[in-house]
Amino acid sequence: MKRSITLILLAAALLLAAPASAPAWGTLEDVRYKIKGEDGNHWAHLLGRGKIVRGNELGGKISFTFDDGPDHRTTPIILDELDRFGVKAAFFVNGHRFHSRTAGGVENQAVLREVHRRGHFIGNHTFTHKDITALDDEGWRLEVLQVDQLVRMITGRRTWIFRPPFGAANTETLGRLSAEGYTVVMWNLDPLDWKADNALELLERTKKVVEENPDGGVILLHDTNRKTAEALPLIFEWLQERNTRLTALGQPTLDIVGIDHFIRHKRKNR
Ligand SMILES: [Zn+2]
Repeated sequence: MKRSITLILLAAALLLAAPASAPAWGTLEDVRYKIKGEDGNHWAHLLGRGKIVRGNELGGKISFTFDDGPDHRTTPIILDELDRFGVKAAFFVNGHRFHSRTAGGVENQAVLREVHRRGHFIGNHTFTHKDITALDDEGWRLEVLQVDQLVRMITGRRTWIFRPPFGAANTETLGRLSAEGYTVVMWNLDPLDWKADNALELLERTKKVVEENPDGGVILLHDTNRKTAEALPLIFEWLQERNTRLTALGQPTLDIVGIDHFIRHKRKNR
């Protein structure tokens, strides 16, 4: 279902295809533009145009990301668990969920405000979960720019990170996202939470994905999924227990960090 893309090739293609008037970046990781925190956002200065976080660049760390919300029935449960375990996550939101005219939209606006208030990162995931490679100019305005406007209205902050629905992106869309100042955040750990029949199955799926990728990375979950909300404390407890066990053996652990750690890491290694 999810389209796999080869971002390295895209990066090369973008370099070749960038018109003379476009920002002159060296590679997609090469940040030429410092975002100076126009809105006072404390982490905005970490972000830059044209960067892509893939997830596998920061060994020994794991970052939690939640897509397709917010949902007033499930996201608050996840927020409480994140607080209980002292974890900061990123939420890639769909704008239609907190549009006033959507059923539950006003409730979801309150949840979005709460995501922001509790110090999590809010990212753009389009208005109605569209494949951005198929958008015309009007579609781009509605699906990408409108979501940022809504988030600004509700939280007072712009969105700096973007996750393409289905992981679908191409040279043109990566260039447009870059021009809008976005860092694109992909993922490398996908337990397919939407496929799990129950919380225990999701825990097992997550264990498998993590053990297969012992260097960690960016994990993709969905805060719209009740089983994900139920599995989250089990996953955190397992990670804590795993770290304790590995520490005793003198082996590397997997610390849970915010997505900003992955972005900051890229800046340091320019
Ligand atoms: Zn999605």
